[in-house]
Amino acid sequence: MDWIAASQALSEIGYLLRQQEKERYRARAFSAAAWALALERPDLEKLRKTDGLTSIGGVGEGIARVLVDLIDHGESRYLNRLREQMQQPARDDESLLNYGDYRGDIHSHTTWSDGRATMLEMAEGAQALGYSYLGITDHSPRITVVHGLDAERLLAQSQEMAEVQKQVDGLTLLQGIEVDILEDGSLDLPDAVLEILDVVIASPHVKLRQDPALMTERMMRAVSNPHVDVIGHPTGRRPGSREGARYDFEAVFKEAARNGIALEIDCDPARLDLSPEMARMAHELGCDFVVDADAHASAEFAYVPMGLWMARRAGIPRERIRNFRPEWS
Ligand SMILES: [Zn+2]
Ligand SMILES: [Zn+2]
Repeated sequence: MDWIAASQALSEIGYLLRQQEKERYRARAFSAAAWALALERPDLEKLRKTDGLTSIGGVGEGIARVLVDLIDHGESRYLNRLREQMQQPARDDESLLNYGDYRGDIHSHTTWSDGRATMLEMAEGAQALGYSYLGITDHSPRITVVHGLDAERLLAQSQEMAEVQKQVDGLTLLQGIEVDILEDGSLDLPDAVLEILDVVIASPHVKLRQDPALMTERMMRAVSNPHVDVIGHPTGRRPGSREGARYDFEAVFKEAARNGIALEIDCDPARLDLSPEMARMAHELGCDFVVDADAHASAEFAYVPMGLWMARRAGIPRERIRNFRPEWS
């Protein structure tokens, strides 16, 4: 059992526990331990032999027992039980996805909006992971609390990007935006700005409780915009604390597929959006996907190896996930 598989198992346990009111605290502990595994990449077999599993960040006696089960038996009885309880069993048509083939993350934030790291720090983090490309997608102006970017600030950011690009050999920086989908489905920046960016992620952030019929119109308009590449965290849900938006998912996902717009599987453990169940439906409707960390600090890039199990569970083949392609296009 390598750190990737173990991290994904703990991450899934965290996800299943989040759906149980009384287990929220424990859910966070499992997600945190999954994250530590993905950051530290420990040699689990060796730690098992030396009784050193609790030296991994966030791994106490309880989580260490789950790891022992994983290492000794290749599976976790605790996870199997939870899957059964929550009626979210493993599937026999899961896809084979290898994190080693993941080429780049296209959704990340910097101190230009609400990120906690500079563009250079984020770029160096992605470079250290061996990524070929990194999308810098800060927020649009509507998100005023985070000082979202308008055309003028995007221009200033592109100048910084040109400088940072010189310092990260082998990594291509993509300038993008996470543009807000406004209540009427229009986007928070004019087309003339969107069309010059390398990546446009359109995301719903506010008024998620809109009436489903209106929400459907709103999302249909977003997936009809020719400048949009990706719909970010398509429901806006926060497992265990906030239900996502409700709309005619089938109609919107079909339209996204028709227009070549990918849907996001956001691996932030607080989001996990799309869920594996909804991603499976979107896959059956012909959609493409991006799997990304929505990182606000370079340590959060590790959400991807943790969260890849969601795409696997959804049965999405590698060629339908755009980050597995050698170049972003
Ligand atoms: Zn977002
Ligand atoms: Zn984001």
